Amino acid sequence: MGQDLLRLTFSLGLPIIDVGERKEDRKAGYVMTTVVQTRKPDFAMVKRLAWRVLEENFVTKPPINAAELAEACGLAVFESRFKPAYSHVAGFIDFDNTKILINADDSVPRKNFTVAHELGHYLLGHNEENGYTVLLRNPDAMAKTPIEQEANCFAANLLVPQRFLREWLDNYPSATDQQLSGIFGVSAEVIRYRRLYL
Ligand SMILES: [Zn+2]
Repeated sequence: MGQDLLRLTFSLGLPIIDVGERKEDRKAGYVMTTVVQTRKPDFAMVKRLAWRVLEENFVTKPPINAAELAEACGLAVFESRFKPAYSHVAGFIDFDNTKILINADDSVPRKNFTVAHELGHYLLGHNEENGYTVLLRNPDAMAKTPIEQEANCFAANLLVPQRFLREWLDNYPSATDQQLSGIFGVSAEVIRYRRLYL
């Protein structure tokens, strides 16, 4: 099943992509290109890739610092205070300049997940596939497209590898999501989600 992604170039110079065709966007003079995505997400491949990144960087236990891994992969990571219109944006990757920018106002676990998510886009070559130069992370609007699902899957597997989570739960069977969130450096929501798939 195909899904449309709109490529928007905002006139103030910060490129933005969004899902859905909003009349306001047209009126405001956005330049839009529709990209049809017909393929399905390949989660098995994404999981293998996340594990390989951990192995290649000799990561053997949580917490996993996504920014360190991104930098090891050749990306520069920055925090930035986004304009009010972009306050909902968690971060983005600028493929041309191999740079990830994340929202400075977010919590540390959320920042960690955003960097891992953008690293996923980078390593999965999502720019080549779609012709994007910038991918924004807007968790509310973008979760449903194949590339967003793959990037989220990559981030979850990178920051909370099944193997590590299982080890912790073997040793501490009564650990709460909240406790594990502190250990893995992610939100309790991510832990809850990962426990469903053990
Ligand atoms: Zn994304």
